[in-house]
Amino acid sequence: MQKAIIFLSLILFIGCKEKSKEGIEVAAIETSSEKVKNPSESFGIVIHGGAGTILKENMTPEKETAYKKKLEEAIKIGHTILKNGGTSLEAVEKTINVLEDSPLFNAGKGAVFTNAGTNELDASIMDGSNLNAGAVAGVKTVKNPINLAKEVMVNSPHVMLSGAGAEQFATERGLEIVDPKYFYTENRMKALEKVKKKPDHPDAKSATSFYDPIIKDSKFGTVGCAALDKYGNIAAGTSTGGMTNKKWNRIGDSPIIGSGTYANNATCGVSSTGWGEYFIRGQVAYDISAMMEYKGISLQNAAKEVIQNKLTKLGGTGGIIAIDHKGNVAMEFNTAGMYRATMNADGELTIGIYKE
Ligand code: ASP
Repeated sequence: MQKAIIFLSLILFIGCKEKSKEGIEVAAIETSSEKVKNPSESFGIVIHGGAGTILKENMTPEKETAYKKKLEEAIKIGHTILKNGGTSLEAVEKTINVLEDSPLFNAGKGAVFTNAGTNELDASIMDGSNLNAGAVAGVKTVKNPINLAKEVMVNSPHVMLSGAGAEQFATERGLEIVDPKYFYTENRMKALEKVKKKPDHPDAKSATSFYDPIIKDSKFGTVGCAALDKYGNIAAGTSTGGMTNKKWNRIGDSPIIGSGTYANNATCGVSSTGWGEYFIRGQVAYDISAMMEYKGISLQNAAKEVIQNKLTKLGGTGGIIAIDHKGNVAMEFNTAGMYRATMNADGELTIGIYKE
């Protein structure tokens, strides 16, 4: 009898160990949400301001400086939050706010125009500690859509809200509402006029031909951020105006969890930018995380495979930024350039625009 009890306890013990081996991530999630510092206290942050046909020969030194300054300002906001023991979610939100408020990027102020001459904004955010997520699509009056995405995640039973309902929720949550005119910028209006002057492609139903004139000289300009905090929690977020000349309340990848944004403490946090239809079809952000989770592939290799092989073969263009649970960073794109920056726990800053 005694032997049987010992044997049973042994089996139970082994069983538990096995389970915790499989569930390392889960254990980490539980402790991290209690804000227990990870032993290494490693943290880091990475951002993008869109990918596309960004060529040095088309850039003035003034423009280049302006982009770099804004990227630096944004990433330093997030880095300071992380350094002072703030959460990755807070860092992602506040960093994206800086980029949303700048007319340089296609998010918030400076968003591109729809075919109807309006601005319809999309955003999403994800908390890698519990796989909670929030997203909004097609909002026209919310100054900072990433804040609304976070409200959806934290203060609603839903993951994704759209249009008028999302705006009503924004008002109820006391977020800053602006006149749609706030989003107007002359540059983006000119871009819309230029695209509209081009003759319709005979096969305007296919994504390739519909976006043909836009893609050729496109600078996507969406903004995104992924961060790892001192508690081992990863978060990621993305905010955009979508694609110039979009019609019929088109929604891109940016507010789609798994395509435009994904975060999981066990793997990584990802934010995408590029031709949204392809990022949705390729489930780009989740695909990178899945490769790490199921195959043990490194972040660098997973990001390379998904962008340079899978997305490219599909016909999509764009890129991603990502950070893993150790603070390793990936910035992968198949376009001429991608506005991007990183900062690690030592405060080392890198800023890039073109392919190096
Ligand atoms: N991915 C965005 C979209 O398709 C565009 C962008 O990245 O600029 O809506």
